[in-house]
Amino acid sequence: MGNSLSVRAIAGEPEERADELLRDFGPSKPPVDDLESLARHRGVTRIQVDAKIFADGLTLRETEGFAIVLRPASAARYRFTFAHEIGHTHFYRPNETGVWKHASAGAAEEGWCHNFAGALLMPAAWLRQDVRDLSEPSLTALDGLIRRYRVSVEALTWRLAHLQIWPTLILRGERSAEGWVVKTLAKSRHLPGVSTGLRTGALHPGASLLERAASTPARHAAAKIEWPVAFRPRGRIFLQTEFWAEARVQILRDGTMLSTMLVHLMPSAATQDRLQNPR
Ligand SMILES: [Zn+2]
Repeated sequence: MGNSLSVRAIAGEPEERADELLRDFGPSKPPVDDLESLARHRGVTRIQVDAKIFADGLTLRETEGFAIVLRPASAARYRFTFAHEIGHTHFYRPNETGVWKHASAGAAEEGWCHNFAGALLMPAAWLRQDVRDLSEPSLTALDGLIRRYRVSVEALTWRLAHLQIWPTLILRGERSAEGWVVKTLAKSRHLPGVSTGLRTGALHPGASLLERAASTPARHAAAKIEWPVAFRPRGRIFLQTEFWAEARVQILRDGTMLSTMLVHLMPSAATQDRLQNPR
């Protein structure tokens, strides 16, 4: 808690800092592509790609400005790291003699920069509007947002959960020897007091759906899954045990199987019809 206070005392609110930078120097709609230009407006004078660095990215203060060093990565990951590193420039101040010092906020600085990167690449106002314009949540809609904002599914899922604007659960999983294992779970605000009983590392509900998705050529399947989830609206607890879900499985070159599952908690008639009759 002390950390999160001091982190804001140093750098302010990440959403506000990102919005200011975009308002003054960014595009007026997604994607936020020209990160180099935004970085220069934050005083970055050197941007370098280096495969040998230990982290995904580094920010250094040099005499004339900041240097950002980035490890080569997929476009989406590279962009997120780049935006994260721009965030770090908010933690440096010149002292009385004009020498720039890092005002360290410890581990909280990393969380701040993560929030800043999400806000810079997926500004809240744009994403809220896009989600309002979508007729129904779906994996296809999720893909559309990924393309529109040029971000990874992880970054988008995390941002949707952070803003609480997607009326679904999104589970990311990975196949292991034991079965499908949960890597992340993102919840929306339309679900007061939802207790899913899941943690990172737990066995994934809907394993049969994921198996089906993994074995179909399209790797996209929908079905009702059994999964007891507790809801506590206004203190009253009720349990729901069946949900409509759609899942996609991605098989990486090294054979790793990753799943994205969208769980519809209150699907409309149109969504139910779509899920029952996949094209
Ligand atoms: Zn960092």
